[in-house]
Amino acid sequence: MAVTDKGRVAGKTAVITGGAAGIGRASSLMFAREGARVVIIDINEQAALETVEMVREAGGTAHFFKADVSKSAQVDAAFDAIRSEVCGYDILFNHAGTIIVKPLHETTEDDYDRLMDVNVRSAFLVCRRALPEMVANGGGSVVITASIASELGYALESLYCMTKGAVLQLSRAIAVEYREQGIRCNAVCPGFVKTAHGLREIAELDAAGQTWEDGDLAATQGRICEPEEVASAALYLASDDASFINGMALYVDNGWYTRG
Ligand code: NAD
Repeated sequence: MAVTDKGRVAGKTAVITGGAAGIGRASSLMFAREGARVVIIDINEQAALETVEMVREAGGTAHFFKADVSKSAQVDAAFDAIRSEVCGYDILFNHAGTIIVKPLHETTEDDYDRLMDVNVRSAFLVCRRALPEMVANGGGSVVITASIASELGYALESLYCMTKGAVLQLSRAIAVEYREQGIRCNAVCPGFVKTAHGLREIAELDAAGQTWEDGDLAATQGRICEPEEVASAALYLASDDASFINGMALYVDNGWYTRG
């Protein structure tokens, strides 16, 4: 049985991109509390060092490697450093990402490049680098942060929907391609989450007339999700508790996706 009294990911090492803040910070703390050694890759050094300190204060182990995960050379440098300073890892939580809220007809090619780079290219670069290393290390679990916008369409979020659809499909393809090599890959698909990302998204949709307080947005999921509620879904998928779950999308949205 997977659950041990030492924690659900005891003895494992988890690489978390975007692990410095928001859902990523909540995940770093939760994975560490459940026994994993945590390795944060993030562009925000200050937030990452704070998170590392929080993990250590809680009695856990955390490392930080700075990288813009949309840049190939920085991704490779971070993973080179992980290999030499931390060794192997069993869990990859590919989480870093961002959003642009805009009508499609006002969206620039720079916007397109930025969102494709930060949300899609990064997942490609990180998974391409990590998967062979995880296979060589005996296999493991990959979790990719997708979104409710991966499969449903939202006004003012066409680019975001495109990119999140792409990473959900990446997670399914990895699940099939690497299954025989001991890798599982699943996606978490949050609705609105109380982070810098989620609160900015709500504010920008509000400003465009899609009100949260008394409108459809609030009705869809009832309240804003806490970052820990997404972290615990990612933890479950990453852990051996989900040992026969592969290629799935786990919605963390209080029934919003099901309601349609
Ligand atoms: P956040 O903005 O609080 O945190 C994002 C983290 O990713 C930060 O630590 C940031 O420094 C890091 N990051 C951003 N770009 C990076 C880059 N190029 N290289 C390295 N690190 C980078 O946001 P969050 O809500 O905690 O998480 C964002 C992820 O969650 C994204 O993948 C987003 O699509 C997804 N998501 C969020 C919500 C929500 O409502 N918050 C909903 C659905 C999906």
